[in-house]
Amino acid sequence: MKYAVRSRGDQVSNALREKIKTYLQEFGLTYDDIEPAIVITVGGDGTLLHAFHYYKHRLEDTAFVGIHTGHLGFYADWMPEEVEKLVIHIAKTPYQIVEYPLLEVVIRHHGDSDCENYLALNECTVKTLEGSLVCDVDIKGDNFETFRGDGLCISTPSGSTAYNKALGGAILHPSLASIQVSEMASINNRVYRTVGSPLVLPQHHTCLLKPLNDVDLKITIDHLSLVHTKVKSIQCRVSEEKVRFARFRPFPFWKRVKESFVGE
Ligand code: NAD
Repeated sequence: MKYAVRSRGDQVSNALREKIKTYLQEFGLTYDDIEPAIVITVGGDGTLLHAFHYYKHRLEDTAFVGIHTGHLGFYADWMPEEVEKLVIHIAKTPYQIVEYPLLEVVIRHHGDSDCENYLALNECTVKTLEGSLVCDVDIKGDNFETFRGDGLCISTPSGSTAYNKALGGAILHPSLASIQVSEMASINNRVYRTVGSPLVLPQHHTCLLKPLNDVDLKITIDHLSLVHTKVKSIQCRVSEEKVRFARFRPFPFWKRVKESFVGE
């Protein structure tokens, strides 16, 4: 089996990456950065997000597993002390695959027939560089509301514990093929009105954001951030593609939520 190891780049993570490479080579596995069947990330959730984007062109053929060298992560849920156990699992046992839904984002610009396509593991956020974001929000082809405020966050179920949670969004189990739209400081008064609650949309229910003022937008896809001008629309929906995680032991989602946010 071909594997790759990606590190956050700090000394501890790099040392662990080398240890994993040596172990797996001793077990007869082949290191292959280009076409790995399994990608082991060493660092934190951010490292796994980077690896996901690096290998997003081959999601069907790559499974991810994350080791955290900082605090417990959502994607990076193996501890450095468990590395020996993990490499034996990888080398010797057929692993189970768990698939999580992804967010598809299509950005269209005024005066341009081409569009830009993105995949997010956590979320897409839309903000302005200056002033409020004013945009129509269409759901499944119908106008739902006109949003005015700091911005909007559209997250995946596995991303619901990240930025979405800080915005008061619900935590969704990743078995629910859905996306969640949450508001960032919406303006609500006698003139401007938004629903004020996070919305959870099922598969095939597209959320289309159409900016009404000609302002530059800061659009993030996970850790990636880009400034876009003359944006006509941002289309979000559950992607047909999924991300695959290699599971070697049960670590239920709600247990991870409890350990990260509630404690013992
Ligand atoms: P980072 O390393 O600063 O990560 C921020 C934190 O988010 C880390 O503690 C990480 O463990 C956690 N995180 C990432 N994905 C998570 C998930 N699915 N569930 C629970 N926690 C998660 O920044 P980065 O590496 O550039 O990561 C980008 C992510 O940071 C974005 O996708 C976004 O979700 C998150 N973020 C959060 C906030 C916020 O909570 N207010 C603001 C900006 C970005």
